Amino acid sequence: MDNIVAEPVVVMPVERKNDTYALRICLSQGEFTPGMMKTVMETMTKFGLTSLRVTTGQRLNLEGIPKDKLDEVVASIGSSVKKAPPTVGVCTGVGICKFGVQDSRGMGKKLLEVIKQNAPYPFKIKSGVSGCKIGCGFSNVRDIGLIGTPKGWDVLFGGGAVRNVRGGVTIGSKLGDDEALALVEKALAFYKENGRKRERTSGFVNRIGEEALLEALK
Ligand code: SF4
Repeated sequence: MDNIVAEPVVVMPVERKNDTYALRICLSQGEFTPGMMKTVMETMTKFGLTSLRVTTGQRLNLEGIPKDKLDEVVASIGSSVKKAPPTVGVCTGVGICKFGVQDSRGMGKKLLEVIKQNAPYPFKIKSGVSGCKIGCGFSNVRDIGLIGTPKGWDVLFGGGAVRNVRGGVTIGSKLGDDEALALVEKALAFYKENGRKRERTSGFVNRIGEEALLEALK
């Protein structure tokens, strides 16, 4: 670790039970660099912290921080934000995974920009990008899902893995990057206009029906 330069880390405090906090480490696409790792390890050693857990959202939670030590731990690790920046879940995809046929990480960055530019929405948007049909980026059960095929992207809308569990509706197939993103933008605009407050896209599609969705996106 001696040749690794420690990097500051951005965290979001999350209140837990018994007067303790977790710090959610804000990672982009789950990437935890050696410099970030060094900072976190040094902080854990300094404050005797023993629990670092991976979240379902491709982030990390540093657990078990006593309330009266929170500011000191944050100062040691970097800086804090009130709300973690949005992310898009991605699989490793082409270039790393032997099954990958599309660049899920590159597409994830472009999709994140589209989602941010068109916000706000009736409720939170979770999205996933997978580099092949196996779908490790959970694209089938996200509000927006992109799945790589040898001929382009399949685009899914309205999936959900929590309340109103359902698979996303395929709204486009074998599309180029720009075409896929334009379709996502259209679907988000339709949801913004017609979704009820705090209605996730899965509940929205359940309410209006798949046919009405597909008709609106023609
Ligand atoms: S979805 Fe396909 S490309 Fe992505 S990690 Fe899974 S198997 Fe690999």
